[in-house]
Amino acid sequence: QAKARGRNGYRFYAPSMSGDGALRLRLESLLRRSIEKNEIRLAFQPQVEIDSKRLIGVEALVRWHNAELGEVPPARLIPVAEDTGFINQLGNWVLVEACRQMVRWEQEGLYVPKIAVNLSVRQFERGCIAALVADVLRETGLEPRRLQLEVTESVIMHTSDALALVNDLHAIGVGLAIDDFGTGYSSLAYLKQLPVETLKIDRSFIKDIAADADDEAIVVAITQLGKSMNLSVIAEGVENEEQAAFLLRHGCNRAQGYLYGRPVPAAELLKQWRQMADEVERSAQAEPAGA
Ligand code: C2E
Ligand code: MG
Ligand code: MG
Ligand code: MG
Repeated sequence: QAKARGRNGYRFYAPSMSGDGALRLRLESLLRRSIEKNEIRLAFQPQVEIDSKRLIGVEALVRWHNAELGEVPPARLIPVAEDTGFINQLGNWVLVEACRQMVRWEQEGLYVPKIAVNLSVRQFERGCIAALVADVLRETGLEPRRLQLEVTESVIMHTSDALALVNDLHAIGVGLAIDDFGTGYSSLAYLKQLPVETLKIDRSFIKDIAADADDEAIVVAITQLGKSMNLSVIAEGVENEEQAAFLLRHGCNRAQGYLYGRPVPAAELLKQWRQMADEVERSAQAEPAGA
């Protein structure tokens, strides 16, 4: 923003600039009331085991639909929420709603093993994240091991007491995933000290794995790294069978991506996966035992 100001100077009060500023303010003020106005929802994207196609978890992704602005993608709204401090309120809402949804699905007959929730740097650096998460788990009744918190490498590297915070979270029994792994600059020596459960290979490396030798090498290296450090590794952004086959061949048996399902509302996920669970059960019954 400073750069834009510098380049344009205040002499040229370009309409596009004033428009952007005004839009940003409008967005901020609409966002502040979005929760109470029931405009915020969660979408859930399946995470699967590639060979068995079993559901191993879901990631909760925030969605904002506003009458005036339409659908505002997270890439747009999260930065604004972070700048204004609204992220803490939003983050809490997401966390509570995600945990509640796990309990609801179970009552409706769908057992989702794990839910992943994204944490922003502002939520993380406040320092009381573990206490907050513990409260939410107690209130909703979700078992701690069924919650996984996702942070990016940069969140960890930019938080001074990250090690203590991660240890606190580990102590209450929730898992930690490093999101978009490979895009930040994490120090492996530092990573080794953290009680991390999962590495999520960034989707930029998955995109061209069948065609780009460098991306192939990176994906293989991250998978190996995860294995040797006893971490689970999941690939983001898997869109086709070719990518899935590559991952499986190289020992990465977990994936999330459009090939297995887009982020959908809770009811939709229930419909898709309860049906699938029924089918698995039926086909198991149809086969003679031991076949
Ligand atoms: P992320 O945590 O890396 O989430 C994965 C993103 O990749 C999601 O975008 C998802 O829709 C998209 N995606 C999944 N599979 C595929 C695929 O096969 N192909 C392609 N092209 N895309 C795929 P989304 O929902 O737009 O979210 C973007 C980012 O916004 C997230 O990236 C996360 O960093 C952030 N975000 C979303 N919800 C929350 C939240 O509740 N709190 C915080 N702090 N950040 C959030
Ligand atoms: Mg994520
Ligand atoms: Mg990610
Ligand atoms: Mg990503």
